[in-house]
Amino acid sequence: MAKLLEGKPLAEKIKQGIKQEVLSLKKKLVLASVQVGENPGASAYVKSQQKAAESLGIEYRLDKLGQETSEKSLIEFIQKLNSDKSVNGIIVQMPLPSQIDYKEISRHISPEKDIEGMHPCTPASVMELLNSTGVDLYGKEVVVVGHSEIVGKPLALLLLDKFATVTVCHIGTSKAGKLEEHVRKAEVLIVAVGKAGLIKGEWIKQGAIVIDVGINRVGDKIVGDVEFEEAEKRASYITPVPGGVGPLTVTMLMRNLVEAAKLQQ
Ligand code: NDP
Repeated sequence: MAKLLEGKPLAEKIKQGIKQEVLSLKKKLVLASVQVGENPGASAYVKSQQKAAESLGIEYRLDKLGQETSEKSLIEFIQKLNSDKSVNGIIVQMPLPSQIDYKEISRHISPEKDIEGMHPCTPASVMELLNSTGVDLYGKEVVVVGHSEIVGKPLALLLLDKFATVTVCHIGTSKAGKLEEHVRKAEVLIVAVGKAGLIKGEWIKQGAIVIDVGINRVGDKIVGDVEFEEAEKRASYITPVPGGVGPLTVTMLMRNLVEAAKLQQ
């Protein structure tokens, strides 16, 4: 039976280090958060950011703009935050209304305040979870399922830096009927797709480490992309969903803020 790789205790441990760094900076750090419109998912994420910031003594400044806000006015708003010397980091909450293109917006966040862009938070969370197992990735067969810009692609690069042998699977792999074949050989499997039950439990190699990034609502339950019950019997470590990768991402965001503040000094 696999050991559970839980995000919360690890997040608490990392937060202790961040707290020390915040104290050593000897100034109030400010995180400016911009939310456009009301989206329940974004509001929940804002709450957890607010809580994490407060627990670290960081000021969380939330600005809510109306659903009808134009791309131009959001850019102007961000430019004001860029030039506001009291602001150390900026985060624009997703999703944005359809009239606004996120790529365009992200280009206008000053690089030294772009705490989401500097080290993507979800891949960093996955690396922290892997690190916590104590398993050396050198030469390991690592399979990443999903090749998005925010998770799969940056993660593949971080894994290569650790000298893992990385295979990245995506929709093309599935359409070619080869997903199972790749997953079966994974000593470390990371799945970030957003499709419940995509990875069958019986595909998991005995003793593999399984990190499930996926978040899916099935009825009134939240589940990942991996069939947990069956996978748990084979894996050596597995993340629960919820409670695995999720709780760490906000902590990574705060770590980036501290990094940004240090660079600005
Ligand atoms: P995207 O939708 O951007 O990416 C999904 C990826 O999966 C794409 O590369 C897509 O390929 C690929 N894909 C789709 N269908 C299949 C399939 N049948 N077989 C193999 N690959 C497939 O999602 P994100 O990367 O943003 O997020 C992925 C999941 O992770 C979501 O459930 C999201 O909610 C969750 N998430 C969780 C976070 C956390 O903190 N725990 C943070 C961020 C995301 P293609 O683009 O070619 O179609």
